Amino acid sequence: MGIDGNTILAQSLKKQGVEYVFGIVGIPVIETALAFQLAGLKYVGMRNEQAACYAAQAVGYLTGKPGVCLAVSGPGLLHCIGGMANAQVNCWPLIVIAGSCPQDHEGIGGFQEWPQVESSRLYCKYAVRPPSPRLIPLHVEKAVRLASSGRPGVAYIDMPGTLLMAEAEEDQVPIDYYNADPVRLAHPDPALVEQAASVLAKAERPLIIVGKGAAYGRAEDAICRLVNNTKIPVLPTPMGKGVVPDESEFCVSTARTQALLKADVILLLGARLNWMLHFGQTPRFAPDVKVIQVDISPEEFHNSIKSEVAVHSDIKPFTEALIQKLAEKQVALQTNSNDWWQALKQKQKANTEFVLAQSNDKSVPLNYYAVFKAVQANIPKDSIIVSEGANTMDIGRGLLLNNKPRHRLDAGTFGTMGVGPGFAIAAAMWCRDYAPEKRVICVEGDSAFGFSGMEIETMFRYKLPVIIVIVNNNGIYSGFNKEVMQDLQSGGDVTQCTPPTALSVEVRYEKMMEIFGESGHLCRTVEEIEAAVKKALSVTDKPSIINILIDPQSNRKPQTFSWLTESKL
Ligand code: ADP
Ligand code: MG
Repeated sequence: MGIDGNTILAQSLKKQGVEYVFGIVGIPVIETALAFQLAGLKYVGMRNEQAACYAAQAVGYLTGKPGVCLAVSGPGLLHCIGGMANAQVNCWPLIVIAGSCPQDHEGIGGFQEWPQVESSRLYCKYAVRPPSPRLIPLHVEKAVRLASSGRPGVAYIDMPGTLLMAEAEEDQVPIDYYNADPVRLAHPDPALVEQAASVLAKAERPLIIVGKGAAYGRAEDAICRLVNNTKIPVLPTPMGKGVVPDESEFCVSTARTQALLKADVILLLGARLNWMLHFGQTPRFAPDVKVIQVDISPEEFHNSIKSEVAVHSDIKPFTEALIQKLAEKQVALQTNSNDWWQALKQKQKANTEFVLAQSNDKSVPLNYYAVFKAVQANIPKDSIIVSEGANTMDIGRGLLLNNKPRHRLDAGTFGTMGVGPGFAIAAAMWCRDYAPEKRVICVEGDSAFGFSGMEIETMFRYKLPVIIVIVNNNGIYSGFNKEVMQDLQSGGDVTQCTPPTALSVEVRYEKMMEIFGESGHLCRTVEEIEAAVKKALSVTDKPSIINILIDPQSNRKPQTFSWLTESKL
């Protein structure tokens, strides 16, 4: 019996445990998507390959198994590149599969011909074109293994039309042979655990920083135990939120600047000392801070600053071993009498007061803080929160709380805008299969929403009840109100006098619901937001859009330090 490339690819993916595929079909991958469905993979057809790529990587982060993004040749694959870079920079597992022009058309101007393997190489851990149908299963297994083990990342599989159609004898295709054993977690060197424990035991102002590597590594139970036992303050990175609940008494997000600045020992669990953590350098950190760095990727050690202890290990077994060592040394802070805790609590109180004042200010047009307070008060506490946009994401991070791991998806290490709808689709698909009561709230700036807004159609088609909240300030960072915009644009040539950060004023994004025969919510007040969120929560078979018009000049709390550290050049 003959079996074609499409079917071999589909069955191999299934065999390797892949569950979800997001993509857009066209020549030569229409039959590929059909073969995927036939093999029992869940296929979600999207509207832009970039968004499909974002969805596939989010499912990889949520489940630990890479999702697949399926694209057509040439432009299809090229539209995935931004998504591949985002996954690679975030260290999330992803497999991209694109059709490519038939091999006998290569070099003579084939339809959508492009050097796709070479183009992908920079954005991948592994890029391959299987040389024959018989070898597809080998490369699929390798792609899954490379994408998900070690530091997770991206694999690209190129499938020329000729390979998709090529036939092999079924008994010659070793689909079942390539069934790699799950990779065992890497355990830490006990001597390094002892060293880490000794450094922590001597610390006066210890701090635990939890990153999205810890979330991906499913280390939440161990880390919560570590924090509860030792009472060491814990600070999550944006997507590390929820590994230790934001509402935990040990979480010091509201004193972030102070915690980073004053800590004398930092236990870094699955986070990198990159721009998001101000490179671990002065003026944001103490010059003599001792870092205990734990990472699955030894290439990451001593980046930017030298670590005191560098442990090559999976976070979970390391944390479990450390708990034991610290118990032996009886390391536990007294939160009520310890100076470090007192200093942090004081700072937390001052910062919380500012936020409270802002969020209680219901004057119209609303400020960001009031908007997020109203949203937070009305959504279920275990919601998955997708968030993007500049102020929307930054300010929302403090007010939209995560008490569970892997429940926040945002612009991430690469700061990519346009990820929201794709991430939300992936999260909603996963919820439907594994946590049907859970809701996905997709909180978007108006600019961010513009990148992938048409994915609302995908949400309708697949009946995904994503709640899209658009925090609309008429612009990028901040915008202008009607009068100011009119004034500015009457100044002469419209291309010369329209501010680059401006978007159209009071765009009625909620009316996108009407092209599907539904209606959306337009809100200007806290009461309207509360009513809209409640209404949206009652909808379970389609998305909702809540468009909130805020003060275009609303801004975030003044910061002690400017956003990025000053350049030393
Ligand atoms: P954040 O954005 O939260 O600071 P980063 O993406 O910068 O997090 O860093 C995550 C780090 O976690 C990466 O260096 C990655 O190699 C590491 N990592 C990922 N999974 C694991 C794991 N299971 N165990 C240990 N480290 C991990
Ligand atoms: Mg905006």
